[in-house]
Order: sequence, then structure tokens, then C-alpha cells
Amino acid sequence: MNWYKEAKIDQTAVKALEKSLMEKHPGLDLALWMSNAGYVELAVIEVPKDLQGFGIGHEVVEEVKQFAQSVGLPVVLRPSASHGKKQALERFYKDLGFMHNKGRNIDHRYTSPISPTMYWKPEEKQAQMKFEEPPEWNFPEADHDYDPAWEYDIDYLPDQELVQIAEETMQEINTKIIQQIGIGVCKTAYINGSDEELARYINGTAPNPVFVINLQAIKNTAEQCSKDYNCDLETEIVIGIRTTLFHELGHAIQEWMNLEPDEDEAEEFAREYQDFGEVWHFWEDQV
Ligand SMILES: [Zn+2]
Repeated sequence: MNWYKEAKIDQTAVKALEKSLMEKHPGLDLALWMSNAGYVELAVIEVPKDLQGFGIGHEVVEEVKQFAQSVGLPVVLRPSASHGKKQALERFYKDLGFMHNKGRNIDHRYTSPISPTMYWKPEEKQAQMKFEEPPEWNFPEADHDYDPAWEYDIDYLPDQELVQIAEETMQEINTKIIQQIGIGVCKTAYINGSDEELARYINGTAPNPVFVINLQAIKNTAEQCSKDYNCDLETEIVIGIRTTLFHELGHAIQEWMNLEPDEDEAEEFAREYQDFGEVWHFWEDQV
């Protein structure tokens, strides 16, 4: 997920639908998200083997479409199936009114650099939900410069547990990821700032990237998320620290490769690594 971006979007209704569908069909694995790009993401749908062939998948997707129709948003998914079953899966979605997001039907708002997407669009209707415009990023001025104002609230005794999680993550970055990418060893500085920003990559340090991580903001965000989604706080903190550091690493790589800073790509990189433990192939293609 676009973890902390999506944290800003109200997921209540979509999560209620997810829960009710999973209760209605025990054993069904389902994950739905409101994306900040303005669509309903059907991230996971898996009908258990012994329940396949009864039209449950069909019914569930229809209900997701109905929900999306009610909020005036499309449904986007990335069809993935074990080898050999992909065509059948794509036919399944086509029968449900989904289109391949390519060729003349391409809509760049719904593409993914990871794998091809398919989308279904509701009949034209004004969207009822308001989405935050993604911020405009400007490399020198955006979140990539260290802001001395951050030092105002520094607590010089940072929470050791959080620091430990961050250090383990940095160790992982320094042993597993940067070898594949080629940049130098990364370092982290810790603050407890009053700012809402979770972390920053310090511009110009790409050969040996330096990140500033705002432990207080991480704690606040994790607390909010665990309340909103009834999740385990510790898990939220771990995910928050990890995805935040991976995101900032994404920016370091962008600068190191002379690429335009791109929030979505940095976040996609973080998300893919968090979910699959693999460096997103986009970077591999370029280095
Ligand atoms: Zn960023």
C-alpha cells in the first residue's frame, strides 16, 4: 500500500465492505483500499480452492463495483495468477467489464510501473469523495532539504526501541539493497520534531545518503493508524519506519541517478520492497 499516503484517506467505508464480504464468504481473502490517486484498489481477492466454481469471486467483484459506483470512482487491479492461469483470470475480469489499461484505453492515472493493470469505470457521475491533490515536488525546495527548524523540538533522548527498529532497517538497506544499486552506505539522524513530516532525505548526500527520521511523527502516525484500522501499534510503527526509510532511499536513488524526483515512484519502491523484499525492477533496469 501507499502506506502513509493512504493513511490520510478515509478508509472506513471500503474497509467495512471488505470486512462484510469476508464475513459473508468465510475463507475469502480480500484487500480493498481507497487510493489517493482516486480509485478503489482491489489489491487481493482469493477464493479458497474448495469454494471455487460457485461464482463467489464474481459476486464479490460485482459488490466492489457497486461500491465504487456509489462513490463515483473506478476499480483498479493488477491481475496476478500462477503461471498458465493468467489468461483465464484476465477473461474473468473482462467478463466483469474490466479493460486492460493499455493501448487506446490507457489511463495513466491507473497505470502501475510494477505490472499491467486493468480497470473498470463507473458510469459518468461526479465523484462524491474529495482527494487531496498530490503535492508538487521541486527537488531543491521540497522535502529533500534539511530544514534547521526541525531542530527546535529535538529530544536528545530518542526512543531507543524506535531507533533500534530504524537501525535494523538501515542495516538491511546497507547490506541487501545498496549493493544491488551501487550507492554508498546510508546513515540516519534521529529527531523528535513537532513537524508532521515523517522523514527527509538530505539533498546532495546521494553518494552516501543521509536520512533524518522524525521519531515523534512516526509514533503519531502509527498511533493514528492503529486506532483507525484497529491494528497492532507495534506493527504499525515497524511498517511506518521501514516504508518511510525505503521511501527516502528512493529519493536518494533518484538523485544519484539524475532522475526527476518522483513521489509516486519513491513510494512504489518502498511499498514493493516492504511487501516483497525485492528491489523494484525499475531501478534494476536503470543501473
Ligand atoms: Zn518524498
